[in-house]
Amino acid sequence: MIEKAREYLQHYFGYESFRSGQEAIIERVLAGKNTAGIMPTGGGKSICYQIPALLFPGITLVISPLISLMKDQVDALVHNGIEATYLNSSISASEASMRMNDIKQGKYKLVYIAPERLDHSAFQQEWQHMNLSLVAIDEAHCISQWGHDFRPSYLKIKTLLKELPSKPIVLALTATATPEVTADICQSLGIDNETTISTGFARDNLFFSVVKEENRDQFLTRYIEKNKQESGIIYAATRKDVDLLYQRLQKAGIQVGRYHAGMNEGERSFMQDQFIQDDLSVMVATSAFGMGIDKSNVRYVIHYQTPKNMESYYQEAGRAGRDGLDSECILLYSPQDMQVQRFLIEQSHPDPERKEEELKKLNKMKDYSFTEGCLQAFILRYFGDANPEDCGHCENCTDQRHSMDVTTEAQMVLSCMIRMGERFGKTLISQVLTGSRNKKIEEFGFGRLSTYGIMRQQTAKEVADFIDFLTAKQYIEMTGGQYPVLKVTHSGKEVLMGQKQVYRKERKQVAALTMDNVL
Ligand code: ADP
Repeated sequence: MIEKAREYLQHYFGYESFRSGQEAIIERVLAGKNTAGIMPTGGGKSICYQIPALLFPGITLVISPLISLMKDQVDALVHNGIEATYLNSSISASEASMRMNDIKQGKYKLVYIAPERLDHSAFQQEWQHMNLSLVAIDEAHCISQWGHDFRPSYLKIKTLLKELPSKPIVLALTATATPEVTADICQSLGIDNETTISTGFARDNLFFSVVKEENRDQFLTRYIEKNKQESGIIYAATRKDVDLLYQRLQKAGIQVGRYHAGMNEGERSFMQDQFIQDDLSVMVATSAFGMGIDKSNVRYVIHYQTPKNMESYYQEAGRAGRDGLDSECILLYSPQDMQVQRFLIEQSHPDPERKEEELKKLNKMKDYSFTEGCLQAFILRYFGDANPEDCGHCENCTDQRHSMDVTTEAQMVLSCMIRMGERFGKTLISQVLTGSRNKKIEEFGFGRLSTYGIMRQQTAKEVADFIDFLTAKQYIEMTGGQYPVLKVTHSGKEVLMGQKQVYRKERKQVAALTMDNVL
């Protein structure tokens, strides 16, 4: 059958050979095995169900949350001579029932549906009579409550599959899944762990960097000015931030659009279309933007604030460079934003275990921002790759600065923390180390500690940054929610006892900040 699959790849799609992962996934599906496929964005997941669809006798049902892409995908298939259709909220009830009749009569090889359709009781009745050979689940991480984009409708898939008289093969596809989420997908859909095919998450054409020692507004305008001809997305955390940035960039003469859930549908799709057609070069948006946008020439994605976890970050950043050309993914880090995110997590989850989990994920974003190792490798490790290679082209891999021995400074910080009883946060610790005078320091009598003021040649901000660096290196751990308490870890104790050296890259020379005069 795989020979036939290759033939179809050429005949219907015009491609010479399968890409890494595609053939292995298709082979398993054709052998009748439930399969999970993990491939990066742009890796070519669609072919993995489109080719088997042509080889199977019955219908291939594709469940996808990307409603805005369905029409284009179906049009492209029809253009290639493959019978396909879709059912989602964009078509009328009478059109849907006409299509349903054709589907039951076996007129189509591929049928795309939005997951919400599974909630309709009429559909639940009808799909029993659909003669399904394959059910492909796109963006399968939406099935997991641990995923960042959980959709309750996805949970229906499991029950509905069980009730089906014809037992179709199940293929789950995603580009973002930690090992826990993958296990969840497999368990929910009855997929053996050994039929999980992962080509890894690496995207060789993405260049990652973190900006944290520079004024972000100034950085942003300078960057956009310099890349005026290119297409880019700027993600901001709130609607207010989006509006503000939009106005500023517009004033600076940039062809910019905006997108958030507070705008009306017409305005949003107008902006989106303009961006897709390259009439606007920059889109400022909340995370509401991007799912289902198939724009291949996005040259950069800038995060104005730190997202709440790595899953969201990698998915949003991954919208750059779908065409395979070099593209940049830049995170603008600010400690205040971390505080806001922490507050939001505190407020939003009543379940303490869940809260703890979310806070841990947020802290990983901070570690990402402060690591001096390869950024791509950091991300791959997060997604379960035990031994990723350094990418060789991210900000850290190309950083030529020398590493300095900062063991003594690290010992100063760690011993001060222990003297203060490991009950406080970064701000107070840096104030004690730099010899600040304030009420709290007086109240606790920290002015009498031998470590009081031993780092007074540095500013409290510099010391706070150094504490973040030590946290990213895991010499310090953070516990607690909105006002985290810092504790010395086991490996921090080894530094204190002189059993471990600490190295840090020389600080960057940051140009004097003249703030806001550019925007
Ligand atoms: P994903 O869903 O994984 O993000 P797509 O299925 O949209 O990716 O495919 C990304 C691009 O790669 C598409 O333009 C597709 O036509 C192309 N593509 C897929 N498979 C192959 C292949 N075997 N050879 C060449 N191009 C391919």
